[in-house]
Amino acid sequence: MTNREVAWILESIADMLELKNDNPFRVKAYRKAAHSVYHLDEDLRDLYLRNAVKEVKGIGSTIQDQIEELIETEGCSYYEQLSKEVPQGLLDMLAIPGLGHKTIRVIYEKLGIDNLDALAAAAQAKQIRTLPGMGAKTEYNILTGIDLFHKSMEKITLGLAVPMAEEFSKHIMQGPGVFEARPVGSVRRGKPLVGDIDILVSAEDVSRVHAQVASYRKTREITWAQKDFIQGVLDHNMKFEVIIVEPEDYYHSLVWTTGSKEYREIIFKGIDRAVFKGIESEEDVFRQLGIQYTPPEMRENRGEIEKSRNYELPELVKLSDLQGDLHIHTDWSDGAHSLEEIAGRAAAMGHSYIAITDHSKSLKISGGLSEERLIEQARAIDLLNAEMRELKILKGTEVDILKDGTLDFDNEILSGLDVVIASIHSHFTLDGEAQTQRIIKAIQNPNVDIIGHLTGRLLNRRPPYEIDIDKILNAAAEHGTILEINAHPDRLDINEDIARKAASMGIKIAINSDAHDKRDLQLLNFGILCARRAWLRKNDVINTWTTDKVINYLEARL
Ligand SMILES: [Zn+2]
Ligand SMILES: [Zn+2]
Repeated sequence: MTNREVAWILESIADMLELKNDNPFRVKAYRKAAHSVYHLDEDLRDLYLRNAVKEVKGIGSTIQDQIEELIETEGCSYYEQLSKEVPQGLLDMLAIPGLGHKTIRVIYEKLGIDNLDALAAAAQAKQIRTLPGMGAKTEYNILTGIDLFHKSMEKITLGLAVPMAEEFSKHIMQGPGVFEARPVGSVRRGKPLVGDIDILVSAEDVSRVHAQVASYRKTREITWAQKDFIQGVLDHNMKFEVIIVEPEDYYHSLVWTTGSKEYREIIFKGIDRAVFKGIESEEDVFRQLGIQYTPPEMRENRGEIEKSRNYELPELVKLSDLQGDLHIHTDWSDGAHSLEEIAGRAAAMGHSYIAITDHSKSLKISGGLSEERLIEQARAIDLLNAEMRELKILKGTEVDILKDGTLDFDNEILSGLDVVIASIHSHFTLDGEAQTQRIIKAIQNPNVDIIGHLTGRLLNRRPPYEIDIDKILNAAAEHGTILEINAHPDRLDINEDIARKAASMGIKIAINSDAHDKRDLQLLNFGILCARRAWLRKNDVINTWTTDKVINYLEARL
């Protein structure tokens, strides 16, 4: 059982207790424990072996016993008992944006509704508005939320899919007689949402791959198996397909199974794939096709086929091009780690520079900094910069764009910082015209360098704001404002289409981790996938530049 899985169970216990209207202190204790476990650097199992689970911050003896039970037995009797008492449909209802524990409890107690289907029916029948404190708007939110929830059950984000696909491939690789096993399909192409995980395997003995797939600890079910094809379901309801080929068929199958479907049908049109037998690299498959090697992220039939026929593909930005990260939180606001810890990890990753961009004062729930605290933080950064040779720390802020488009700090404060990111964290549902003007107003402020997570989308959870993207791109181009690709796999915002268009207009892009935890610094990888799907080149992305070039560029913008 991984730390993540334990954290998830503790969080579910908290949810069930809260739905039962249990003691708020107990609820809080479980949430705190879940948070601590989630953010642990060390594997719980190792702590357990050293008899050190109790040393984890915020874990009392009851929860400690339950964690140990989970590690020993992969189960927890308290969790199972609660699961019997609390209808599990109520937990699904928590996934609907805007529905809190209290509201769900009222709906359950007054109307007896304990699942999403019944909830949708009641909203449609206008029964929800009869309850205290609820109205037509609640019903509308419920219906759109359920719609989004159902869509999210069909697709998963790369943040879940990539690690799972890699772990699954590794497990298959360990099987007897397996030569290759790797993720293909939409995971390899880096699509932000994927319907399933596809793994291509080359093996001497096909039958032994089947046993290996079945023995993976997260395989829940095999739904269909043929000699060279296995379909099934992993944990988190993640569907998978394993395609098994002979070693001599591996490389053309790699191109085929990577897709996209549309792409492969065009490039292999009229060609018998038997002619590729025995080829020893993917590049050689492209050579034999007589077209330029095309990175997986581009294989979508969006103009790349023609370009590859003419050997005119752009050279895409890659992870190793990135020299820094311009959007990072610390425990000065809502981050989990200190300035020193973040800087240490960034330096160890090989970054030349980072910008510390904690939240601004009006974002109270996220511990936004006052002017005084921001100045205090700047002093701390100066001290650290004097100590660290290998990393330059830039002073920044993620300043809130207020409802009317003005910023949460005045210009005097902003002009003293190296990097100003302006982002929206409130009033998500303004009408399109007002929302567009709000963002343009921020773009027009010469102190604003970067607009953070421009459209506000949260994959599977929240649609983008209503905005006129063309108007915004024009304003950004006019004012030289940088747009962010927020690399968090739940965001990937701006998306590939907007990024491609922006770059074609000469707008510069920053690929930022928006890390709230030192491990999140690794998320840049997902931003790179998005950037490559947007056909961005190295020079389109400002954090591929050297420290001096970035600093000069940001200064010259003013
Ligand atoms: Zn933000
Ligand atoms: Zn942020």
